Amino acid sequence: MSSNLHADPPPRIVREPNGIQYLTADQLGKGGFAICYRAETCENHQPSGKIVALKIVKSQMEPQKLAQKFVTELQLHSKIHHPNIVEFHRAFSFEKSTYVVLEICDNGSLADALKKRKFFSMPEIRRFIIQICGAIKYLHHRNIVHRDLKTGNLFLDSDMNIKVGDFGLAAVLVGKNEVGLRRTTMCGTPNYLAPEILEKHGKGHNEKVDLWAIGIIAYTLAVGKAPFHASKREEIYKKLQQREYVWPDLKKHQNVISTDLQDLVGSLLVDEDNRPVPDQIVSHSFFRLHWVPETLASHCTNSPPNYF
Ligand code: ADP
Repeated sequence: MSSNLHADPPPRIVREPNGIQYLTADQLGKGGFAICYRAETCENHQPSGKIVALKIVKSQMEPQKLAQKFVTELQLHSKIHHPNIVEFHRAFSFEKSTYVVLEICDNGSLADALKKRKFFSMPEIRRFIIQICGAIKYLHHRNIVHRDLKTGNLFLDSDMNIKVGDFGLAAVLVGKNEVGLRRTTMCGTPNYLAPEILEKHGKGHNEKVDLWAIGIIAYTLAVGKAPFHASKREEIYKKLQQREYVWPDLKKHQNVISTDLQDLVGSLLVDEDNRPVPDQIVSHSFFRLHWVPETLASHCTNSPPNYF
């Protein structure tokens, strides 16, 4: 979509058809489909102190794309409630735009934090992955596959808790092991794609694609870039189909990457049937034998935690 769609600032006051008002403030970020602002809800025309994220989807967007992305997103997301999933409040239209009201994640996306930090420490990664696993266990238990898990879709609240967001590609599986009900659509972000999504004559894919993505996320947080990377999409596909990834020279890399983490990633980047499910992931020695911080300070989006 053209970027100048988002050139205009949003109205200062946004009104829901039922009268609820939002006072818009600073921009939180931009995605391919939407732009997100901090906003304060008003009650009886008075600011309530309740801050939300107001995601604006311009209705000039190609109707097909809008329909595909947002209908799924809204229908699915509105039924999901978990402490590590961005809470969906409501969606409405106002002056030709579609608005989605979401729980605010004050510390932005994990992708933005990773850009600033370059890599995360092992204790931080343990805390992030445990929380991601909690959210994915919840979704898979309800036969929901996220299908686009990546650092850009993982947000951090003011207490640095993970909030899984962006359900635009999520899908519901009706019968987990029934081939006919597996999804066959090609979707996701190249670096995070599970190999079975690329199989031309494959049986489609299921919730196991999210487990592969957790492996990619764990590697990326430790190393600073994805395990399968290349300038061309086709090269990325070739590498991931051959499971061709390497760890950087650990003597030269600035991060201390534990062998337990490498083992965990290795256990996830395998054929779908052999990937551990969330409960098995969190009982891996990477988590079991080492310290997991209960809290994390907000400055960790910019600089390492103070416990080193
Ligand atoms: P798209 O659906 O177009 O991919 P995103 O959901 O990625 O849009 O949102 C665009 C940007 O807005 C994100 O990268 C992030 O910076 C910001 N953002 C999105 N949701 C929230 C939220 N709940 N809290 C804070 N910032 C958010």
